[in-house]
Amino acid sequence: MENYHFDLIVIGAGMSGMTAVITALNQGLRVGIVNTGFGLFVFGSGCIENCQTLHKEAPENFNKAIDLFLENARLAECPFYGSINEIRYLPTIMGGFQAVSFAPFYLWKGNASESIRSAVVGINGVSSFNADYTAERLNYTAKFNDFKTNYVAKEINLSIKPKSVASMLQFANRFDFDSRFYDELQEALKPISREADLIIIPGIFGLRSKFQKIYDFEHELDCNLCELSNIPPSIPGLRLFNVLIAHLRKNGAEFFSGFSVKNLEIKNGHCQTIEVDIPARSLCIDFDSIILATGQFSKSLIGLDFFDVDEWLRPITKSGTVIADNLYAIGDLLRNVGGNDNRHSILTGYRAGMSIVERR
Ligand SMILES: Cc1cc2nc3c(=O)[nH]c(=O)nc-3n(C[C@H](O)[C@H](O)[C@H](O)COP(=O)(O)OP(=O)(O)OC[C@H]3O[C@@H](n4cnc5c(N)ncnc54)[C@H](O)[C@@H]3O)c2cc1C
Repeated sequence: MENYHFDLIVIGAGMSGMTAVITALNQGLRVGIVNTGFGLFVFGSGCIENCQTLHKEAPENFNKAIDLFLENARLAECPFYGSINEIRYLPTIMGGFQAVSFAPFYLWKGNASESIRSAVVGINGVSSFNADYTAERLNYTAKFNDFKTNYVAKEINLSIKPKSVASMLQFANRFDFDSRFYDELQEALKPISREADLIIIPGIFGLRSKFQKIYDFEHELDCNLCELSNIPPSIPGLRLFNVLIAHLRKNGAEFFSGFSVKNLEIKNGHCQTIEVDIPARSLCIDFDSIILATGQFSKSLIGLDFFDVDEWLRPITKSGTVIADNLYAIGDLLRNVGGNDNRHSILTGYRAGMSIVERR
């Protein structure tokens, strides 16, 4: 039997769980994480949408939550750009625009309202992306919104094994590990970079590559780059997940990834243990506090009585009774009583982490 003790156990590694872990580690707590897989932000890009409303609602907490998240993204070597009062319109793979206040650096330069020549680049043989369609839709949506950017579709050729079905995932993998692929991609994009101010390309710059490598690539090309989030799971989202996990591990967080929590054992108003579904292995995780960050589909773990949360983010029943004094709920789990997007996940992750520190 393996025995562990943590000050805090977080169930879930989405945007809310990650922020709670960051907050607790920053306050010196010993933290463990159990997660079945990656968070929903991997389906998108991890962008943080228009922050102004939420900032008005809870300015102090929101500023601190965002600052802490951004600082850790920077230390993880995946810096975000932007500010609370700024809104940028970034292109999407479906040819629309997403209004964001912050985005990972590899998306940020795609701002649509500037008067620039943008090349939307597809890859010959890759069926999951059609540059003509995306460029045409972007031009249409840009005109509709009075944006000045002009989008032109381009195509490049990259070496693909004969008869293989090429996917962006394969290319992203090669970008991480194969310097010949890096050079090949540079050469293929160079002619386009001479005619365009911005190259927009579906996620290709690695599943684990960090700031310096992508920055060097862009610098050598001498043209701004913006990735598009691919059809899920998106490569920019997977990259963010991988670098954040590596950063949290480096800072002492202990991950039990790939395992599902089946049950919380709550006795006398206290969560005592969790039942983890681990085949052929016996695991005992002891903890002082527990945060549920399992997203919109795993509400049942708290039980049917769950109605709302109190000011510390502890789940309560309809009559206001706290379900367990050491149990907290965050992120999309609260979609009925709050929002469901990355802004709310960061805010509630931070608030729960701080609640635990204050109540110790
Ligand atoms: C396609 C798509 C695009 C989106 N785009 C955006 C966007 O651009 N901007 C934005 O702000 N929001 C966007 N969202 C919403 C945003 O992704 C979510 O609101 C936010 O990421 C939710 O984070 P979370 O941490 O609450 O939950 P989740 O991201 O759902 O994470 C849940 C975590 O819990 C784990 N888990 C679940 N059950 C268990 C269990 N029983 N045991 C152990 N682990 C478990 C999962 O493996 C996962 O790690 C998008 C959502 C989708 C689906």
